[in-house]
Amino acid sequence: MTLPAEFVAGLREILGERGVISDAADQAPYLSDARQRVESSCDIVARPSATAEVAEIVRRCQEADVPIVPRGGGTGLVGGTVAAGGVVLSLDRMRAVQHVDPLNMTMTVEAGCILKDIQDAAQEAGCYFPLSLGAEGSCQIGGNISTNAGGAGVLRYGNTRELVMGLEVVLPNGEIWEGMNALRKNNMGYDLKQLFIGAEGTLGIITRAVLKLFPRPRTRVTLLAAMDGLERILPLFDLVRADLGDRVTAFELIPRLAMELCTRHIDGLADPFTEPHPQYALIEIASPRADEDLRGEIEHVLGGALETGRISDAVFAENEGRALALWRLRESIPEAQTREGASIKHDVSVPVSRTTEFIEKANAALAPVVPGVRFCAFGHIGDGNIHYNLTQPVDADGAAFLDRAEDFHRIVHDMVVEMGGSISAEHGIGTFKKAELAHYRSSLELDLMRRIKRAMDPGNIMNPGKIISV
Ligand SMILES: Cc1cc2nc3c(=O)[nH]c(=O)nc-3n(C[C@H](O)[C@H](O)[C@H](O)COP(=O)(O)OP(=O)(O)OC[C@H]3O[C@@H](n4cnc5c(N)ncnc54)[C@H](O)[C@@H]3O)c2cc1C
Repeated sequence: MTLPAEFVAGLREILGERGVISDAADQAPYLSDARQRVESSCDIVARPSATAEVAEIVRRCQEADVPIVPRGGGTGLVGGTVAAGGVVLSLDRMRAVQHVDPLNMTMTVEAGCILKDIQDAAQEAGCYFPLSLGAEGSCQIGGNISTNAGGAGVLRYGNTRELVMGLEVVLPNGEIWEGMNALRKNNMGYDLKQLFIGAEGTLGIITRAVLKLFPRPRTRVTLLAAMDGLERILPLFDLVRADLGDRVTAFELIPRLAMELCTRHIDGLADPFTEPHPQYALIEIASPRADEDLRGEIEHVLGGALETGRISDAVFAENEGRALALWRLRESIPEAQTREGASIKHDVSVPVSRTTEFIEKANAALAPVVPGVRFCAFGHIGDGNIHYNLTQPVDADGAAFLDRAEDFHRIVHDMVVEMGGSISAEHGIGTFKKAELAHYRSSLELDLMRRIKRAMDPGNIMNPGKIISV
């Protein structure tokens, strides 16, 4: 679509020269996304610097029937920021940490704040903001809230939904909903903020948020345990959690293939063990007490596990640098997979107790579909979220392998749903998973979603075409 010149001039008046990008080359960074699978284009990129400016742009777009795609850090993995003309509205000039209240354990931020900056600001105030994911250096809190991001700390602290206390949102007609509560108890009717969390920008633009903080961990132990089979992982998780309770902050599965791909393709990564092992668990435990002997406690647990064969070996990160290296190993798996060749990905969840059963059944069902397919199931097994990824057979044609993606998706997603799971655990629906959502949610659920969308955005201007078609 081509926007009328007076409309664009109006936006320039509101935002100034810095706030409007119409040159295609300058727009490019605002049109890419982490998967790069779909072309995206827009007429202008709008970069407001305050909520009132966001509201005025949205009001004008609504009047002129111009679609808006809200944009955070562009790290989403499901095509949620793909645009087809109209306005891409970036929050990248709204990145202030406005207030930290260590006594109330809350923080007030603008939606364009980079996640890492929020973590750092919390730490400076002696507190802790636990949302943590591989893209934390570039994703924005508005994007995290809009995707209800998960990450490595969900096991202990919950998804982003559990970390949001209040929101400010510009609605599709340009009204500003002011819901910036910093309350731990608030039962005044419907909890409206929940509508916008995980809505992927389809119901409004989040402009500010009140976030929940936690006591800062003063003792932390990070380790990698090695196992001789997948069947060992849940008993180990059970054992560690029984002893250390909610001091277990992360429990991640890393299969042998992932270790091989990471050490082959990612600079500076090495296998910390002298022998190869079929499976590994990256475990992190933490406590706000400085004098807690976490290392002694977990060594005691793992000593018993070693004696009974539940683990084969373990390495502890002896300092912060080693801990970061172990996490880098875990976070580099998708990148290493990409460098190895074509891969087909599934972001799914099942009840924690059924995770290994799911992986084994899925592997058995898929092995005959493409002989030689390499299984790389990894991730947040402690909260039931498996990144069930497949790597092309060695020396196979990557494009031909990707042509089979739909066959794999159907088998995996059918199995997940049959096991009481979800076909989108933490990345959302965007455009890529829309058809799958329509396939697996009931007609009543889809109808309810459409009714909400139509009621709030009758002109369908707010991130149109994402999640559901209306
Ligand atoms: C290396 C890597 C690791 C990752 N690890 C994880 C992980 O562990 N867990 C996880 O959950 N995700 C993970 N992701 C996915 C991604 O980082 C998250 O989905 C993140 O929350 C997206 O934030 P963003 O700011 O980049 O949002 P974007 O990609 O810019 O946008 C995502 C969606 O939110 C909407 N949106 C953005 N900002 C706003 C706003 N202010 N108001 C309304 N709507 C808005 C967009 O329209 C879009 O639909 C990872 C991605 C990468 C590249």
